[in-house]
Amino acid sequence: MPPLAPAAHPPSPARRYAITTFGCQMNKADSERMAGILEAMGYRHEEDELAADLVIYNTCSIRDNAEQKVYSYLGRQVQRKRHNPHLTLVVAGCVAQQEGESLLRRVPELDLVMGPQHANRLGSLLEQVESGQQVVATAEHHILEDLAKPRRESTVTAWVNVIYGCNERCTYCVVPATRGREQSRTPQAIRSEIEALARQGYREITLLGQNIDAYGRDLPGITPSGRRRHTLTDLLHFVHDVEGIARIRFATSHPRYFTERLIAACAELPKVCEHFHIPFQSGDDQVLRHMARGYTVSRYRRIIRTVRQYMPEAAVSADAIVGSPGETEAQFQNTMALVEEIGFDQLNTAAYSPRPNTPAATRADQVSEAVKVDRLRRLNACAERCIRHRNQRYARRVVEVLTEGRNPKDPQQLMGRTRSNRLVFLPAAGHGLGDLVPVRIEAVRPFSLSGCSLSEPQEQRLLSGQR
Ligand code: SF4
Repeated sequence: MPPLAPAAHPPSPARRYAITTFGCQMNKADSERMAGILEAMGYRHEEDELAADLVIYNTCSIRDNAEQKVYSYLGRQVQRKRHNPHLTLVVAGCVAQQEGESLLRRVPELDLVMGPQHANRLGSLLEQVESGQQVVATAEHHILEDLAKPRRESTVTAWVNVIYGCNERCTYCVVPATRGREQSRTPQAIRSEIEALARQGYREITLLGQNIDAYGRDLPGITPSGRRRHTLTDLLHFVHDVEGIARIRFATSHPRYFTERLIAACAELPKVCEHFHIPFQSGDDQVLRHMARGYTVSRYRRIIRTVRQYMPEAAVSADAIVGSPGETEAQFQNTMALVEEIGFDQLNTAAYSPRPNTPAATRADQVSEAVKVDRLRRLNACAERCIRHRNQRYARRVVEVLTEGRNPKDPQQLMGRTRSNRLVFLPAAGHGLGDLVPVRIEAVRPFSLSGCSLSEPQEQRLLSGQR
């Protein structure tokens, strides 16, 4: 079927948009910014993507199945577009960056293909679409300082991008190709965004970067003692005193660059939560070398030991990949042993998925799907045992919970998180969103906790004349 001529789409207050987001927190944060741009242009949010006039798929190419899902979603929209030429179809994110022009050849009905570096340019790109062009925006681009006000999912917790892109070259990963080189925001711009969030009532922020330990290495400045002036540690100190913000988190850490100076700052700064997400990917040195990760298993162990020396209660989560090219059963067993030894509070696991234009995908010694599935099953079982065991330490303890929303399955309950990032359910009575509530834990499950609030309900405080 020949490509449909792109139609002119004058924005009007009646036009409705839907964004479907795949993948990581960076993509979720980009989607919130794109939603903010659309609302500033007069678009209204529409839950049902099959009823929207403008549909954005913000895609992820980290694994093949996430990529294939996008094509199946697009198929439905292409059917709609055949009956409604004013429908605007956009593919954003990492698949857009990876495929570029070829995505237009595969799906000629698309109006706009835009890589992640162009998220802040959505408004001007749509203007080009409205003038009748099909647009591909994937060129390396200096990311504009965030001018848009994101439409955030939560009213309590917010993501704040601090560094875009990644300069690492992990051999299995497409991110450097799709998100480009590192670009750090200035500390002043980050602090201004956090101050604005605090004024809107946000209580918790998560500083985001694909490799957050790289923060600042592209910014100028050396201290008199010869070290970089701008590091994640310095940034934590710089934003720590923003009034109204109660908790600060950051992700994702890289074992190659994670320093004791950073760990000490986390222990010293009371708002920084005792939760560390430090992907190890494999428990075997040779596999780590093939992945070009730049650290050894013993370095990883040392990092965790140091974290626990400074903060014995700290929670540690990680990512692990099974079935990398050439991974033997013995090497996989080293990963299992590391998981048992460390005792993770959470583990994101994945079977290796070859990605286009990555060195690992060209290796001849790929592991069979059956072996990958079997290793993933065994690793998941091992991780779940460890997480269950770790969770037991919460039983009957009192923890501080920041309430973030209603339990969708029980409106009588609120849900929130501990400083260590455990999900907790508690009775809603007497509490609003954004409260810090002391909760005694009564039930421990593998992925969540439940308990009762120990703070005086609001009505009692009012009756006793307290505020
Ligand atoms: S650090 Fe490695 S795995 Fe993480 S985004 Fe960069 S290249 Fe990919």
